[in-house]
Amino acid sequence: MQLHAWLDDVRSNPYAEQLSRGFRRLRFASALESEYRSYLLEDNFELKCSALGFAMFAWLALAAVDFLLIPGAEHWTMLAVRGVVLVLLIVCGGLILHRRFVRLMVPLSIACILAVGIGAAAVVGIAHRVDPGYPYEGLLVVSMAAYFLVGLRFSEALGSATLILLAYLGCELYAGLPPTKLLNNLVFLLLGNLVGAVGCYLLEYKSREHFLVSRLMRVMAEHDPLTGLRNRRSFDRQLERLWRQSQRDETPMALLLCDVDHFKAYNDRYGHQAGDQALQRIAGALQDSARRPLDMAVRLGGEEFAVLLYGADGDEARQRAEVLRQAVQGLGIPHEGSSTAAEVTLSIGISCLVPGTSVGLQAIYAHADRALYEAKAFGRNQVVA
Ligand code: GH3
Ligand code: MG
Ligand code: MG
Repeated sequence: MQLHAWLDDVRSNPYAEQLSRGFRRLRFASALESEYRSYLLEDNFELKCSALGFAMFAWLALAAVDFLLIPGAEHWTMLAVRGVVLVLLIVCGGLILHRRFVRLMVPLSIACILAVGIGAAAVVGIAHRVDPGYPYEGLLVVSMAAYFLVGLRFSEALGSATLILLAYLGCELYAGLPPTKLLNNLVFLLLGNLVGAVGCYLLEYKSREHFLVSRLMRVMAEHDPLTGLRNRRSFDRQLERLWRQSQRDETPMALLLCDVDHFKAYNDRYGHQAGDQALQRIAGALQDSARRPLDMAVRLGGEEFAVLLYGADGDEARQRAEVLRQAVQGLGIPHEGSSTAAEVTLSIGISCLVPGTSVGLQAIYAHADRALYEAKAFGRNQVVA
């Protein structure tokens, strides 16, 4: 798609892939689809609340109009229908506002719009038995609300509006509205629905596009484009959060500062591009070493990386750092310019954080940095705690 040609320059990730693949059927790959739907639930909540308030108000106001327009006993039947719908609105609306039944949010919203739509169809049908001039246009307003106001997805809105239209047809057949008038009303309702459906489709398409682009922006702001690891800024933010959590949970954690050995010499010998590829492979090894849920690997800049091991005490940190050091050497990236080994190697400095100590983040970095300096001074390709 020409529109998203810039995606060629973006590191591959689910959002970028979905954007370039397109989503004309308004459906993402399954994991993304459920992420989008939970985003919609949050995004639409306030819209739903105001729509609900508006619906109840309009519904009651129109009950007064019924009394003015329809003489005789019919308006009591109409009032009964309005009463039933109002009770449904109150029950469903109450559940929606409660927020405890988030999973039911969509079915409840559909129930509300169907209650109003089918209720309106019934009211119009009853009124048309005595006065064929009674306005049916309210149904169009309900359909528009389904498309634009309740925060339904296109398919849900289209399904609801179609059901309402069918209910209207049924009620008019029951009321015996003259065929020409019925045809006229149906044509207008259908045309109105067509406009609503097209608008709703475009709106959902744009909403999905916005979702993908904003998530993609977030990924790009938080990750390093070359290696795909976190960047320093997002790492620091997470580190602070985890530091507080470790204090609360009384859990230790360890920071591993890693620096590639003789990397300037590597670039000089094999070229910058080969250097970039080496960094990507090393980043892969780092990512593998940070596999537990709260662990994190980061590219601090240049050929310097860090790994945070949540829940690791001194012994475990040393052990896992040693595994990482061996893994990087085990990649077997030849490095003839290195005076340390025949392959590219890594030096690692460890800083252990024990809960209960009140050191700042800067001190944690400084501590690991000192250990790293010693690892370099002792001959590189080693771990110092
Ligand atoms: P030491 O063993 O003491 O760490 O030596 P070193 O050469 O690795 O350290 P130094 O800090 O002198 O050099 C780091 C080099 O990393 C310099 C730079 O060319 C290279 N570098 C930094 N960022 C990148 C990058 O994104 N891509 C490539 N290919 N090289 C990079
Ligand atoms: Mg360095
Ligand atoms: Mg280095």
